[in-house]
Amino acid sequence: AHLDRIAAVDEKVNAFLHVDTEGALAAARAVDERRASGGELGPLAGVPLALKDVFTTEGVPTTCGSKILEGWKPPYDATLTRRLKEAGVVVLGKTNMDEFAMGSSTENSAYGPTGNPWDLTRIPGGSGGGSSAALAAFEAPLAIGTDTGGSIRQPAAVTGTVGVKPTYGAVSRYGLVAFSSSLDQGGPCARTVLDAALLHEAIAGHDPLDSTSIDAPVPAVVEAARAGATGDLRGVRVGVVKEFSGEGYQAGVMQRFTESVELLRELGAEVVELSCPSFTYAMPAYYLIAPSEASSNLARFDAMRYGLRVGDDGTRSAEEVTALTREAGFGAEVKRRIMLGTYALSSGYYDAYYGQAQKVRTLITRDFEAAFGRVDVLVSPTTPTTAFPIGERADDPLAMYLADLCTIPSNLAGNAAMSLPCGLAPEDGLPVGLQIIAPAMADDRLYRVGAAVE
Ligand code: GLN
Repeated sequence: AHLDRIAAVDEKVNAFLHVDTEGALAAARAVDERRASGGELGPLAGVPLALKDVFTTEGVPTTCGSKILEGWKPPYDATLTRRLKEAGVVVLGKTNMDEFAMGSSTENSAYGPTGNPWDLTRIPGGSGGGSSAALAAFEAPLAIGTDTGGSIRQPAAVTGTVGVKPTYGAVSRYGLVAFSSSLDQGGPCARTVLDAALLHEAIAGHDPLDSTSIDAPVPAVVEAARAGATGDLRGVRVGVVKEFSGEGYQAGVMQRFTESVELLRELGAEVVELSCPSFTYAMPAYYLIAPSEASSNLARFDAMRYGLRVGDDGTRSAEEVTALTREAGFGAEVKRRIMLGTYALSSGYYDAYYGQAQKVRTLITRDFEAAFGRVDVLVSPTTPTTAFPIGERADDPLAMYLADLCTIPSNLAGNAAMSLPCGLAPEDGLPVGLQIIAPAMADDRLYRVGAAVE
């Protein structure tokens, strides 16, 4: 049924870069056989899923939305891919994304933009716009995204779906093509908080193949979602961060957010306003740290090891072929980030830019620590505005970067955060996202509070 739905609507939505019909049907049949033979089946056995094209899938194309990886079929599965398969999840295919996950609108994909199913002339968010659009268009009931600065939560917010960035290190990055290794985190996308929790439990957990993977039990997120669904939030302390409001925030977004805070109070939560002054500097710190790490990570696309190779006619040196390939294979935003990052890391500038940004990162982490000394979770709008029209911010990187104003601090600090729908903005009828933030390894709190207000 989901393959039929994709065939019917994806020409318009463009959520998928690759539909793996054969693989999906084989996985579904395997679950059927297991059921027939009386084998044990987990809660997600046979459930279809859309996978962001940044996770490796053995024998199935993985492009990261880039021309430089066109046609590349990885020889191995990411740990996340393997876990999905072991859970009996049916991977329908790979979803569209901003090239190498750099963007906030999915317009930076080398394979054309994805439309927001609420209004196809608008962006579905980014970088994981394909995954969230697939959910909103009912092409898949579950999806996977990655969140380096907001790429799970921001698309969830603007498509009216749920997205969770787990605690950094909770979900293995082995086989997740690296953008910014100290920030990247895979996570669940779904249409309900409980669905997200079930997927969270399937993908999280220690992996010896990822040196930053946390070796500790996964928080009981499914249990928390079930507990939250009773709607009782007595004893829960919620902080409203002052810095996540003001200029640039759409009126209808703030209206729905204020109503959500009111609802939290009605459910018994204690709400306090607090200030995290360093959050003001999260955006500039992120746009030094993320491009710096990217400039190093993307050095591996050298025309020798993977995908595209341009100008290799026997007359050119390896360096020339590498340069020609990177010139032809990378898009404008990727080149911009590589240049920014290389500059920020170069000797003489390192202390002024990268070093300074790392200090700001510490201050942001301390602001979170102070806040979580007073409250259990923080809440904010997920994005300052609803989905903007395709093309509107395409030529203005700074305007584009603002879409992640509320999501970036959690990546810098490595804590857990969720976006879930909290109604439609009255002025444009488009979905608004509520963000909930919890301390590292307290992901269960997101699900308890999220399920209560859902
Ligand atoms: N929009 C942010 C960026 O362009 C975040 C991307 C992400 O989370 N992958 O870097």
